Amino acid sequence: FELERLGIHDSVAMVFPPAELAEYLADLPVEVAVIGDDEISACDAVVTMEHRDAFLEVEWVHSIQAGVDRFPFDEFEANDVILTNSTGIHDRTVGETVAGYLLMFARRLHDHVANQQDRRWERPEWDAAFTLAGSTACVVGTGTLGTGAAETLGGLGLRVTGVRRSGDHVPGFDEVYSNDRLLEAISGADFVIVTVPLTDETRHLFDADAFDAMRDDAYFVNVSRGPVVDEPALIDALEADALAGAALDVFEEEPLPEESPLWGMDEVIVSPHCAAYTRDYFRDTGDIVRENVDRLADGAAFRNRVV
Ligand code: NAD
Repeated sequence: FELERLGIHDSVAMVFPPAELAEYLADLPVEVAVIGDDEISACDAVVTMEHRDAFLEVEWVHSIQAGVDRFPFDEFEANDVILTNSTGIHDRTVGETVAGYLLMFARRLHDHVANQQDRRWERPEWDAAFTLAGSTACVVGTGTLGTGAAETLGGLGLRVTGVRRSGDHVPGFDEVYSNDRLLEAISGADFVIVTVPLTDETRHLFDADAFDAMRDDAYFVNVSRGPVVDEPALIDALEADALAGAALDVFEEEPLPEESPLWGMDEVIVSPHCAAYTRDYFRDTGDIVRENVDRLADGAAFRNRVV
């Protein structure tokens, strides 16, 4: 197709100012403009955070997120609309966020932040703090997020195991298990970190059986998508002290409802789906868009094509 007008949909404002990306891409040989819903049909391609039905009339949609579970793949296919995503850019950002959660728990930093709110000088119990070096993290899903987490945690001295469908070795992991050994893999870990996409196969992958298999002094981390976890089962496990705690960036319902018990738990860190935030986000996602504009001109296949 001929690309003449590329729209930056204003829903990207959830992650960065749309005008920053428009300016970053201004040197492309196409017209680039920030657009609202009423201007979608005037574009050949759109860069977006959210889905809109009007996208089914353009040629190409680029998601600034890696997870594209909210886009209707069948309808894109039926309407010959290309969908690309931003997988590949979140290794360092999410890896560092995950390392931060683990450091907070091991070094008890979250307790200090909580105590400081009450101007309370209170040291941890003598046996509460530990070091990450010598601990084991099991990362479920060995893609961009998984390998980014493995590299960051490996640098902090953790032993890092992984779970992937094939069970084949991945650089950065000390040991890799296949999916059918998931419960065995997570049962040996001090930290279990979820980095798989949300699919029919991974919906509620972490259920009561998984939390049962985890050690009761282990921490659970979810930076992928909320519905990969059966959230009531996680809450039950936390309330029963069958887990030490959890760091959660994503939830079955977002924003996390005010009445969720997760907000009030001492050993739970809640972050508002921002594990990948960085001031460079518009550049990172813009580089994928730029590469695909070039590829389109060369008649080459798109990078990160999902549909
Ligand atoms: P990716 O495609 O690079 O990696 C996903 C990996 O999961 C792949 O290796 C894939 O083979 C594997 N996988 C898929 N189904 C599996 C299954 N059933 N069992 C085991 N492994 C399976 O994607 P990514 O960039 O690493 O992102 C992963 C997901 O994390 C995204 O889909 C998105 O939902 C989420 N994400 C969240 C944030 C955030 O801000 N919290 C940021 C980026 C991505």
